[in-house]
Amino acid sequence: MAEAMAIAGEAPRAVLRRVFGFPAFRGLQEEVVEHVVAGGDALVLMPTGGGKSVCYQVPALCRPGTAIVISPLIALMDDQVAALRQLGVAAGALHSDLDPEEQRRIGRELDAGHLDLVYVSPERLLSHGTMERLQRREISLLAIDEAHCVSQWGHEFRPEYRELACLPQRFPGVPRVALTATADPRTRADILHALDMGDARMFAASFHRPNLNIAAEPKAGETAQLLALLKRHAGDAGIVYCGSRNKTERIAAWLGGKGVSAVAFHAGLPAEEKRAAAARFRSGEPVVVVATIAFGMGIDRPDVRFVVHLDMPDSPEAYYQQIGRAGRDGDASETLLLYGGEDIARARYFLQSSAAPEAQKRAMRGRLEAMISLTETVECRTRALLACFGEELAGPCGHCDNCVAPVGTFDGSTEAQKVLSAVYRTGQRFGAMHVISVLMGKATDAILQRSHDTLPTFGVGADRSQGFWRGVIRQLIAKGALNVETGEFATLSLIMDRARPILRGEEKVMLRADAPVEKDRRRGSPD
Ligand code: ADP
Ligand code: ZN
Repeated sequence: MAEAMAIAGEAPRAVLRRVFGFPAFRGLQEEVVEHVVAGGDALVLMPTGGGKSVCYQVPALCRPGTAIVISPLIALMDDQVAALRQLGVAAGALHSDLDPEEQRRIGRELDAGHLDLVYVSPERLLSHGTMERLQRREISLLAIDEAHCVSQWGHEFRPEYRELACLPQRFPGVPRVALTATADPRTRADILHALDMGDARMFAASFHRPNLNIAAEPKAGETAQLLALLKRHAGDAGIVYCGSRNKTERIAAWLGGKGVSAVAFHAGLPAEEKRAAAARFRSGEPVVVVATIAFGMGIDRPDVRFVVHLDMPDSPEAYYQQIGRAGRDGDASETLLLYGGEDIARARYFLQSSAAPEAQKRAMRGRLEAMISLTETVECRTRALLACFGEELAGPCGHCDNCVAPVGTFDGSTEAQKVLSAVYRTGQRFGAMHVISVLMGKATDAILQRSHDTLPTFGVGADRSQGFWRGVIRQLIAKGALNVETGEFATLSLIMDRARPILRGEEKVMLRADAPVEKDRRRGSPD
């Protein structure tokens, strides 16, 4: 391995050019680097792709000693180490997946003071041998990557991260940099508290991605909606996220039948197929990857022109991360989220029946509800999304769906009452289709058999379309007044706490006037 390439006392900008080959720092990088080189602690909040690595890698080379980089993911560690070695930087990783020979070699390099950076998993760092070994060395800085893992509120809580609070005692006077792309104010506060970094300076980059055109639509035949989007993107690469493995395969096969070059990707596929799918995607060919959330980590293709969600993500953080895989090259890119009442109910149900500790469930519930509000909002969607991360966009973005085609609201109290009462009077044993038929006064077999045509609510909604009533039902689910039992049939029932005041006329229900789904929405362009 090459000798450590650090040149003591070299200026950050010179290191950036000489080692990394970048002409200049980007965004907040220079401020962070200078602060850390001078020995300060820092909390760095930057979106994925924002350039967090430079924030600790450059200081690592400017300060004497070895930098310890704590990272939760072995694959990412290996990628980073490989990239650094390519640049001639003396870097190594210590984790449980290394063969013993490689471990011994890294250990020797470390003991000899030949490593500029050592990547470790938190478990490994906290293990006796490793901690003592590192304490004997001169340490230039401690970088805590994916720092949101320390927060129970965060979506990737790792109990080992909590123990990193011991670092200031173990390495007194060594500057610490915590980095994350999860920036909601709650997580931020948790990180500073749990890592005992109250004096750290915070560097928060904007999460705004002006080249992303964000849109969401209620589901109205999801495959047709997907095809309409793909029509605008012939020859483009994109990602279609699905909520289940099964669905990725089904949709990929269906797209194949429509002449779209599509490939499924999920964690359950044989390793060979996963590799092949990822390789096709990386190769630059125009391919649509139909994937679960397992796809994306470490897959960096700059010209992804669209990201579609056929199922709603469970938090704004996950949503942001997934749509953020579009348009890394800065060119206009489109994102579309399809959502429906049943999905909302199912997500709530899964959460409720999860085995997670109660405090964590509460946090997950908070994020899920934030996600649901994001889908139903009539405000600028970009702005609403950024608000989830504590960032305030000065004005509406001008190019999200709600900006391009403003959506109105109306007092839907009467309509809500009609729906709730139809659900109640049919015995809370039927799905949306049946309830809508009752409202619209359709004498279907099912209705006649049960004499539902004699109910007072029969036909009270004949003046409205089926799509309209679907929208009301979905929004009542989103508002927590209706529940969907997802057994063999998706059965609607009332959630009394929320439904009663609406039925009694004590609560006004403002509803979103869903736009009829346009077939040919123009692709907006960034400002
Ligand atoms: P993050 O960890 O925040 O997701 P990375 O550190 O992986 O982001 O950086 C994202 C991309 O930006 C990488 O390809 C990196 O090489 C590039 N990059 C980072 N800083 C600069 C810079 N100052 N100039 C040019 N490219 C940069
Ligand atoms: Zn907008």
